[in-house]
Amino acid sequence: MKKPEKDPTNRKKFHLPTNPWVYILILLGAVMIVNMLSMGNMLSGNRTEYVEYSKFLSMVDSGQVQAVEITDTLIRFTVSSGMFPWRSGNTYATYPVDDPNLVQRLYKAGVEFGGVSQESRVSILSVIVNLVLPLAFYGLMIFWIVKMIRGSKDGKGGGFNLLGGFGKSGAKMYNVSEVTKRFADVAGQDEAKDQLIEMVDFLNRPEKYKAIGAKLPKGALLVGPPGTGKTLLAQAVAGEAKVPFFFVSGSAFVEMFVGTGAARVRDLFKEAAEKAPCIVFIDEIDAIGKKRDGTGLNANDEREQTLNQLLAEMDGFDPSKGIIILGATNRPEILDKALLRPGRFDRRITVDLPDMKGREAILRVHAKNIATAPDVDLAAIARATVGASGADLANIINEGALCAVRAGRTATAQCDLEAAVELVIAGSERKSMVISPEEKRIVAYHEIGHALVAARQKHSAPVHKITIIPRTNGALGYTMQVEETERVLMSREDLESKIVTLTAGRAAEEFAFKTCTTGAANDIEQATKLARNMVTRFGMSDKFGMVALDTQTSLYLGDGAQAICSPETSTLVDKEIQRLIAESYDKALSILRDNAQKLSELSSYLLEKETITGEEFMEILGPEQNEKVTPLPVGNESAE
Ligand code: ADP
Ligand code: MG
Ligand code: ZN
Repeated sequence: MKKPEKDPTNRKKFHLPTNPWVYILILLGAVMIVNMLSMGNMLSGNRTEYVEYSKFLSMVDSGQVQAVEITDTLIRFTVSSGMFPWRSGNTYATYPVDDPNLVQRLYKAGVEFGGVSQESRVSILSVIVNLVLPLAFYGLMIFWIVKMIRGSKDGKGGGFNLLGGFGKSGAKMYNVSEVTKRFADVAGQDEAKDQLIEMVDFLNRPEKYKAIGAKLPKGALLVGPPGTGKTLLAQAVAGEAKVPFFFVSGSAFVEMFVGTGAARVRDLFKEAAEKAPCIVFIDEIDAIGKKRDGTGLNANDEREQTLNQLLAEMDGFDPSKGIIILGATNRPEILDKALLRPGRFDRRITVDLPDMKGREAILRVHAKNIATAPDVDLAAIARATVGASGADLANIINEGALCAVRAGRTATAQCDLEAAVELVIAGSERKSMVISPEEKRIVAYHEIGHALVAARQKHSAPVHKITIIPRTNGALGYTMQVEETERVLMSREDLESKIVTLTAGRAAEEFAFKTCTTGAANDIEQATKLARNMVTRFGMSDKFGMVALDTQTSLYLGDGAQAICSPETSTLVDKEIQRLIAESYDKALSILRDNAQKLSELSSYLLEKETITGEEFMEILGPEQNEKVTPLPVGNESAE
């Protein structure tokens, strides 16, 4: 995703009013400093000199005094410049004494004199300078600091953002020109696109819908496993709709201050209402939309408040204004029921893992950005990547390009992409790992055991590649099976033969070396998981039949199975799983026994070559005597 530019209009809004603040503050500060300095009379040439009362009287008598102001607390007077010309205009002051003759004396000397009221000496100017200006100064300072703390309107501009955009929505707003993604950038996912196209059309031409009286959904929830393009789709919607697009992550609402989340939701909807028509996209909405628990414990007060605010806002806005709320999550099952009810997120758009066609299309979209050699066959890569998400595929293309650079090629070849697939599935090769020849032999037998048993079973995908080069994910080698066509259903026979194939590694070790190693740990785990699912979820055991004994807690985030049967049944389930795997193991062992000659022949060949292709393997193995091998594919598997 291109790094978004900040919305230019928001930017100006923040900066223009800010600059005058700075100027006003500087001006006020300067005035105050000048005022403080002059209070000390340091700049003033007009010093007031205090003299004794007797001196004052003698000055009056000698005729130096020109004018006198008398107050209760002070007598100020000016002298004529004749005597002190260098101090012309200077004022003197003295403290009054109880002297009833003073008036007469002044009168006689012909001095102008009079009383001054105390209040009128406090001039309006001095009030302003001494009181109003400092108040204004401090007031503005506080105002400015608060403004700095709050940050600018978009919640992240403005340099200072001490509390992370406290109180503001925290949503990034993209203008039309800033969103570069289009529906063409999203490969596959046609059903999701169809539904979203309708929403885009509504935003672009609302009249069409209003004429009929049709209301469009207020919101749509994109659900699916991680990396399938939910965020990408929302961006494409924004790009196609030509309206402003608010992007906010659910976690952005959750803050350390109680009430912040709710305030942000409120702000978000206010901002959206100003910009309508527009799209508001809340990514990873499960961060705030989690089910409210009925325990009454207020440990989650903040989150619940935020959710309540979101619910209220979604009810409150008028859909005809053209605000569409999109949410994305990969855990829809933990969302609050209230959030999912019609009137809020009334559309649920599933963005699932791509099928083979979808994978090829995604690979094609991303391959456009790199230089590819003419031998590149993206369909083959798509076939080898069952279960990969869009993000995985984008990663494979990029890793392929990196591989090509490493090999010094100018264009990405098919072998680079194949290496990238392995890299993503199994990690990179660990050439530095030292393995003793004896261990290497065991690994070779183990892998050939998998491959041989897979090839000798009816319901098994053809072997694509076998290698005994260790990988960074811990595998000492692996056998890759690639199906020919995409399967949406797996039969009981498919699964059973898969388990047999998984147990074949250990079976080969046992058969050839009369020992067993830790190398089978991953096989055992996979086989057990498969067997458990067959018994508890797929209803594929004769003992229990079609009874659900497990429930999946997370639909899109992998297996979080939870037993929903009694402990007694649970014990029986474990027994049944044991039986299934033990039978599979025996079957694998018997297949290996029937092909003992081929097993050692192939293992030696693999030991020598380290990596062999499926064709090489099948050539040496040859057809089975009585049965012909129909390669019925099973899901892609990478067994150790
Ligand atoms: P999520 O569903 O987790 O939000 P994203 O939308 O972030 O997944 O997808 C991650 C990346 O995977 C995208 O940036 C894109 O490169 C790639 N991708 C995923 N799905 C697709 C798709 N259908 N078409 C093209 N690229 C895709
Ligand atoms: Mg996402
Ligand atoms: Zn194995």
